[in-house]
Amino acid sequence: MNKKDYYEVLGVAKDASEKEIKSAFRKKAKQYHPDLNKDNPAAEEKFKEVQEAYSVLSDKNKRSQYDRFGHAGVSGAGAGSGFGGFSGFSSGFDGVDIDLDDIIDSVFGGGRGGFSSGFGGGRSRNSSRRGDDLLIRVDLSFMESVHGTEKDFDLDVVENCKKCKGKGGFDEETCSTCHGSGTVTSEQHTLFGSFLTKTTCPDCKGKGKTYKRKCSECHGTGKITENKTITVNIPAGINTGDRLRVAGKGNAGINGGEAGDLYLEFHVKSHEYFEREGDDIYLEVPLTLTEALLGCKKIIPTINGNLKLTVPSGTSTNDKQRIKGRGVDNKNRHHKGNMYVVFKVAMPKKLTREQKKLFEKLSKTDLETKEILEFDKFTEKNA
Ligand SMILES: [Zn+2]
Ligand SMILES: [Zn+2]
Repeated sequence: MNKKDYYEVLGVAKDASEKEIKSAFRKKAKQYHPDLNKDNPAAEEKFKEVQEAYSVLSDKNKRSQYDRFGHAGVSGAGAGSGFGGFSGFSSGFDGVDIDLDDIIDSVFGGGRGGFSSGFGGGRSRNSSRRGDDLLIRVDLSFMESVHGTEKDFDLDVVENCKKCKGKGGFDEETCSTCHGSGTVTSEQHTLFGSFLTKTTCPDCKGKGKTYKRKCSECHGTGKITENKTITVNIPAGINTGDRLRVAGKGNAGINGGEAGDLYLEFHVKSHEYFEREGDDIYLEVPLTLTEALLGCKKIIPTINGNLKLTVPSGTSTNDKQRIKGRGVDNKNRHHKGNMYVVFKVAMPKKLTREQKKLFEKLSKTDLETKEILEFDKFTEKNA
């Protein structure tokens, strides 16, 4: 099996700058992240390729080795062995610091720096950081939204590795490179004098500690992605665009930081008959010609079962009737809406011979209303 050219994998030119390589990597990593490509098994292989290419091209030494000697220059014996054989790489790979939560965060446009915070050496890694928030979009049926419901969600949450308690390894020792400070100071001599620069320790990645044995469960990252089922009680009255926060159910924090939150964002499907406006419910009720003319008692549906309604005689299309307090009982806003019934008089498309006779008889009676008389008067004047 021949390895692909690392520049090709990232889609950059041979003379690409560090910045271009970093940005190409972010784009590709997002594109092929296995958790975002569940129905595309080939993505995982691509994702590994991308990570591998980045771990080499982002490291000045490795990149120049690769430029001179190709794959042989950086991968030792294991050229065909796939990513698993890259023990020599693992430290570089850790340095990439591409956490699943960072990816999800940036895909969902989450706050707090998201992706870019994973890079850049300025931040001290000893400091604890709150875990990232997760956002999932939830479809609710109309009735679920109106009455509230309990729902289970399967989601991938970044947790602290249980085996190593989030540390990434065992047999802790003080980092010999930085003596536990997490930073190294180097002196740079330039034309203008000597400067001291402080950078994150390359051996412990700023933790100040290293581990004799790396945790096999989390590959030294201290984090694992776990598929979890979370049950959420969704209160009555949720509408499209509403968000619900489930505190502490997001990704695990870093260095003991508190966990992020889980946000649910809702989309409510429309109902065949009920329509919602704010917390009010609208219902169109069709009436026969005679029901509208003579008035009637009619059983109509509401969001809380059926109701007997008195339809007054002489009801026209678009006449409205308010039923107080029968709208949405919105638990979030502590507000109860009303229900509005909008009548629609249904004209029969076809009459039987007998019905026709009856209507002809009816037409000879005086059915004119004030509006009809006034309209006739206008037509006459207009002649
Ligand atoms: Zn160190
Ligand atoms: Zn672990």
